[in-house]
Amino acid sequence: MKEKNNDNTNKKHSIIPDFLKIDFTKPVTARQQLAVMITFLFVSCLLFTIVYVVQFFSGRQDQSKTSAPDKKNTPAVVEESIPEESEAPVRTRITIETINAEELFGETKTELRYFDDVYSGSLILVNDKYSCRYEGENVEDISEDANDKYSFAEDGILLDSRLVTPLNKMFEDFALSCGEASIVVKNGYVSYEDQEETYNKEPEDESDCYEMERITTAPGHSEHQTGFAFDLDIKDAEGNYTGYDGQGLYSWINDNCGDYGFIQRYTDDKSEVTGTDGKKWHFRYVGMPHSDYMVSDEASLEEYIEIVKKYSIDKAMRIEDHSGNGYVIYYVEGDPEDLTEITVPAELDYEISGDNYSGFIVTVRL
Ligand SMILES: [Zn+2]
Repeated sequence: MKEKNNDNTNKKHSIIPDFLKIDFTKPVTARQQLAVMITFLFVSCLLFTIVYVVQFFSGRQDQSKTSAPDKKNTPAVVEESIPEESEAPVRTRITIETINAEELFGETKTELRYFDDVYSGSLILVNDKYSCRYEGENVEDISEDANDKYSFAEDGILLDSRLVTPLNKMFEDFALSCGEASIVVKNGYVSYEDQEETYNKEPEDESDCYEMERITTAPGHSEHQTGFAFDLDIKDAEGNYTGYDGQGLYSWINDNCGDYGFIQRYTDDKSEVTGTDGKKWHFRYVGMPHSDYMVSDEASLEEYIEIVKKYSIDKAMRIEDHSGNGYVIYYVEGDPEDLTEITVPAELDYEISGDNYSGFIVTVRL
């Protein structure tokens, strides 16, 4: 009687059903095998459901974070049509070969230049040390010749006429690689007088990088006076300017501009050489193949001109750009007292640019 009571108490407190209580001293019945299998399946399904539900809700949370961007900073046009990141290009360094250019040219002729001519040309170096004496003689409103892959922030933005073809090509290729975007040329040529007017002015908005660039650049030392420099901005779907930081898909422009004759003139890692903090939005035209060399070898304009100055016509630099075009480049010291004689090929295309302080850089297309 006592034993029977104990048995009843055990049955009352047990949560395991009778059919799962297997006595391993006895053979397992078919009913017990089936019960174990059903229980195993039930527990598996339960675990699977829990894992699925947890993943579903965490996924929804992540999506809500990315689908509600800050409208002020993210252009809606870009979100819809452009992949998030453009692939960083692999640019091999350009090797310099030293050659006797006079022998290579065969027939030559002589060009004469006044010393004042060192202050003009697409390679002039304008920085804290060397002011710009060139007043953008070739500047014009290029907006009528621009394609629809970029626009201008206002009427009357002037740039050197040589920029229109490479700008059109660069933004066309950007659109092909990354999709359509609202890229705007915000500033072009700025006269000395306009620089004087804005220099040291009280800023209206210190976070406006374009305004701060104008305020902090001493008159005559802005590259914008050359007509070869411009600033980029981005317009969102509502027509608001969001600023150009060269990040994400726009890094394509900063990485590839060297293929079109342009450089990002001020990079963070060269600020000690250029004397200017990094400015992702500020681009400068220097022409091919100089831009290709500078971008590939991460050389600033200051450093590049120092390299070129080591080469003369009898020991000239011969390089090949990334499209396989060959060039010969050499330097000729300017004569401050007299006309400078510059030997150039009689049959090949060439360009002569001043360096803005001491001489001339000759670029010959082979
Ligand atoms: Zn600028």
